[in-house]
Amino acid sequence: MSVPEPAVHVAFLSSAGMGHLNPCLRLASVFLRYGCKVTLIIPKPIVSLSESNIISRFCSSFPDQVSQIDFNITPLDPNTVNTNDPFFLQYETIRRSVHLLSPILSSLSTSLSAFIFDVFLVSSIASIVDKIFCPSYINFSSSARMLSFLAYVSVLADSDPGIQPHPSTFVGDAIQIPGFTLPIPRSSVPPLFLLEGSNSFQRMMMEDSLKLTKHDGVFINSFEELEGEALAALNEGKVVRGMPPVYAIGPLMTCEFENVDQAQKGCMSWILEWLNERAEGSVVYVSLGSRTETRREQIKDMALGLIESGYSFLWVVKLKRVDREEDEGLEDVLGSELMGKVRERGVVVKEFVDQMKILGHPAVGGFVTHGGWNSITENIREGVNILTWPQGGDQKINAEVIRMSGVGIWDEEWGWGTQKVVEGKEIAKRIKEMMSNESLRVKAGEMKEAARKACGVGGSCELIVKRLIEEWKRNSQVN
Ligand code: UDP
Repeated sequence: MSVPEPAVHVAFLSSAGMGHLNPCLRLASVFLRYGCKVTLIIPKPIVSLSESNIISRFCSSFPDQVSQIDFNITPLDPNTVNTNDPFFLQYETIRRSVHLLSPILSSLSTSLSAFIFDVFLVSSIASIVDKIFCPSYINFSSSARMLSFLAYVSVLADSDPGIQPHPSTFVGDAIQIPGFTLPIPRSSVPPLFLLEGSNSFQRMMMEDSLKLTKHDGVFINSFEELEGEALAALNEGKVVRGMPPVYAIGPLMTCEFENVDQAQKGCMSWILEWLNERAEGSVVYVSLGSRTETRREQIKDMALGLIESGYSFLWVVKLKRVDREEDEGLEDVLGSELMGKVRERGVVVKEFVDQMKILGHPAVGGFVTHGGWNSITENIREGVNILTWPQGGDQKINAEVIRMSGVGIWDEEWGWGTQKVVEGKEIAKRIKEMMSNESLRVKAGEMKEAARKACGVGGSCELIVKRLIEEWKRNSQVN
């Protein structure tokens, strides 16, 4: 009598925001595709409406393979964390509630083969790793260059003779990470990390950097052709000694369950109709991600720049960080005259759109992005030219990756989005450059091919995932 194959059961825990949730659900979908059972642990309450919507769609799309468990986190007083950003508050709240996880994990009816959690939980999960009884893996939602920076922070901090090393002191003019051709200039380091005093992001980076090596591996949404140098430096132990394997499973594919809700279809269907009427490669798509509000002072120049560029455009604007709070009309901000001119050339919306459908539309020829890693990798899969306009966090480090790979441009003079108002004529100049640059288009086309190979049949993602599933099956037979 043959012994039935043990089911592979993987638990996933994300932190907050679409930029973390999307890669979590997409990675879970990869494992579902290979027959694994998935448990999704959902920190409650959920910050944004887009997160609630996509979680429901994900769970209802795989009723037989996915179980969901609520993880009721203990509320924190925002003053104790010193932040007014609901997403940062949520990161910290989840981190401080992690001790409540082990009873949840041990109560699961099928034992776990692996636990995959968000990068912002590295050190807190490390503190309970001996109570999980299965391998633990980090899901890193940014570039391999950014992962190298995070890993190298512990080395830099160690070189600081001060009693309490502070990033503003130990980060010099540039960081030369071993194994990298180009250093990371101080000006590209996430601003919150360098801020005088102490903040939750800084503490998280410092603590997490030290604990990366406590886990069994890191999944990263990247691939050899895009970030070969960084992946090699990490996996050859050049960045830090004892780094666990870094599994390049990118670019993660978007899935059926991501199609926007019925309520949002209204906006998407007319956007798609409008795109259908435009010539191939003629439209500029502008979006600064899921939670970056464009500053009032910048919005007017953004509109002027788009108009002056002479291209048709689809512009997604956010006026509030959390979508539930969007209440103001764009016309109130732009004024009716400018709004009228905007409408002559383009489409402007405030709704959460189906970004992949837009990027995949033949009419779209350029993408003005803040440089969030999901937006970048989604775009690379579609081979559209990129203009990066970093607003904060890891986005300058990601912009460097894009510039080095030859698929996009970045004007360093623009600084961080919060630093200064970039004039309309500057914006128009860069948009024209992005849209007309033939070498970008050729390179973007080549990278698209490489991306599709990496996540296609027999590609690097499939090889890695199949190998891990086999390894986990063997482990469960031994135990
Ligand atoms: N996104 C989307 N529609 C929107 C805004 C964002 O589908 O209107 C998705 C986008 O495709 C990406 C994620 O939300 O998967 C945003 O992640 P990213 O890392 O690009 O930036 P973040 O929003 O975290 O700054």
